[in-house]
Amino acid sequence: AHAGSPRPVATACPYCGVGCGVLASTGPDGGVTISGDPAHPANRGRLCVKGSTLGETLSLDGRLLHPMIRAGSGVLQRVSWASALDAVAEGFARIARNHGPDATAFYLSGQLLTEDYYVANKLMKGFLGTANVDTNSRLCMASSVAGHRRGFGSDTVPGSYDDLDQADLLVLVGSNAAWCHPVLWQRMVANKQSRGARIVVIDPRRTATSAEADLMLAIRPGTDGTLFAGLLVHLAETGTLDQAYIAAHTEGFDQALERARELGPSIEATARACGLAGGDVRRLFHWFRTTERSVTLYSQGVNQSAQGTDKVSAILNCHLATGRIGRAGMGPFSLTGQPNAMGGREVGGLANMLAAHMGFSSVEIDRVRRFWGAPRMAEREGLKAVAMFDAIEKGTIKALWVMATNPAASLPRADAVRRAMAGLDHFVVSENVLSNDTINSGARILLPAAAWGEKDGTVTNSERRITRQRRFLPLPGEARPDWWIVAEVAKRLGFAEAFSWPDVASVFREHAALSSFENQGSRDFDIGGLSQLSATEFEALEPVQWPVRRRSDTADKRFFANGGFFTPDGKARFIAIEAPGLRTEPDAAHPYVLNTGRMRDHWHTMTRTGKAPTLGRHAIEPAVEIHPRDAAAASLAAGDFAEVSTAHGRVTLRVVIDEGQAPGSLFVPIHWTAETASHGRVGALVQPATDPFSGQPEMKATPAAISRV
Ligand code: SF4
Repeated sequence: AHAGSPRPVATACPYCGVGCGVLASTGPDGGVTISGDPAHPANRGRLCVKGSTLGETLSLDGRLLHPMIRAGSGVLQRVSWASALDAVAEGFARIARNHGPDATAFYLSGQLLTEDYYVANKLMKGFLGTANVDTNSRLCMASSVAGHRRGFGSDTVPGSYDDLDQADLLVLVGSNAAWCHPVLWQRMVANKQSRGARIVVIDPRRTATSAEADLMLAIRPGTDGTLFAGLLVHLAETGTLDQAYIAAHTEGFDQALERARELGPSIEATARACGLAGGDVRRLFHWFRTTERSVTLYSQGVNQSAQGTDKVSAILNCHLATGRIGRAGMGPFSLTGQPNAMGGREVGGLANMLAAHMGFSSVEIDRVRRFWGAPRMAEREGLKAVAMFDAIEKGTIKALWVMATNPAASLPRADAVRRAMAGLDHFVVSENVLSNDTINSGARILLPAAAWGEKDGTVTNSERRITRQRRFLPLPGEARPDWWIVAEVAKRLGFAEAFSWPDVASVFREHAALSSFENQGSRDFDIGGLSQLSATEFEALEPVQWPVRRRSDTADKRFFANGGFFTPDGKARFIAIEAPGLRTEPDAAHPYVLNTGRMRDHWHTMTRTGKAPTLGRHAIEPAVEIHPRDAAAASLAAGDFAEVSTAHGRVTLRVVIDEGQAPGSLFVPIHWTAETASHGRVGALVQPATDPFSGQPEMKATPAAISRV
């Protein structure tokens, strides 16, 4: 069915990485009814409260509907598309000419559709000649990408959601899936209820997820690597290793085990280092040892860390050592936060990836150059998010285009990010909402982008499943899809031939063709079987997991049960991890560890969920959660206001006293911005320490102080 049709349109939810299928029906009065798509394999008709209230978020209040340019007086004035696009292109061309292409940058978003992402990457990495293209996915799952590539030779999620139904043990590390991946969590709970699967939660904080767990390990922040090192030692000492798998399909086991013995030599030593009871660690290890069908799921508590890549590697090590990977009900499983974090990875949305899961080797650069007919290929990795904004602060990056994200609220040191962007020579924002912190940081050109329900394309969820997002609303005002906007700028920069797609299906076909170009099984991401889809077939495309090497591909979609890793020798790599710990330990001035994360009913900086009255009821304002003992020590009562400060900033928040908060820790949600709660924007507090491999910032462990206001 098409926009305006009385039949429901099948699309995908724009929030989390579960990637639920949604049916949207437009009534005669223009109202939209939302329901879960029973035919979608991710959710089988279910939706969480965010998905089911999508219909409340579709008003045009606050939407940017026309291109705008900030006049000399600072006032935003409406201009034509032609004037706005000319101005965007002129600025990028001028700065690249005068200061080199690396003085320009794009900052993208896991909210973009794959086709938007593809076109933006192609322009920067192939035609402007810089890899300064990064994305808010850097804050989300970059450590998983780095861990996968280091261990497997490719950014491959080996399993499927079906494994969560078939596992007998589900270990969740740094994941509050009950709030952050609710529909997937329902599948895990259903497995527990119907099949008796055990659930273990490893998290410093007691959450809605741990409330359902058979075992909760309130781990000391920063010590996850030690726990999994201890597990590896335990598996080795109890004869649980799959020696045949290790010998045939891996390298580096002995070194990894030797390091693990230094970090977690015994259950008791591991428990002490992780701040856990010995009996709890013993039970986890016993369950993992005796349960072949084990899945370890991990999310932001693992990824958002200055040692995130090592944490991922410590988990992968345990699955490789037992051969529990790529088989039914087994494997490590990265839960991605955003609806299209995976699609962004597929097109090279990260500054250290090229396209189609290729990196920056000379062979890969040359291959992409030839495929694109690119005149000016980026020859090396670009700057990752935190480093990119440092370069803006220093003035070495002078032109920035932000698409569908709000770095002035969400990046570490958010106040410094705001000030830095205000100093840009050329600052473009394409957004589907108007008043956000980034625009108010001095954006000079605003471009109205199409929002969810108004645009067409694809997204990929956490299990590698590509789903069509379909349009069911007309484009409001002068809004246009992001891929079209970037292509129009590219044409003005002189690249018309390479950027003249008649429709979004043509962009998808090119992306699919690149994935199979000179591939022949050498890369995991291959959807060449979809590269010949007609526009009608693209419109009708059913949700499909990659790889799709041939159109008829119905092969088993799990990876690595029989090895076949994407390293030069086809073997996985065990990793000897560094000693775990926090980058900055609390001290007398900042004695608490500040953790940040999501609330159940809000998404990112609330530009969409903030419109839904139903969702606003769950948490009406930003608050700091604190353990009762710490609250008493700071003379804080529930409902008081407290100032939370770090070396980077200070905010004022309502106090919530919560037994589930670990003593010595504070928790503040990420959703509120300068605009929605001028005093409560937590990004201003977060330190910029990053993981050395992934560049992902440590957003869950900033030393902080709290005092009564
Ligand atoms: Fe949307 Fe995620 Fe909820 Fe599914 S679980 S409806 S994808 S927010």
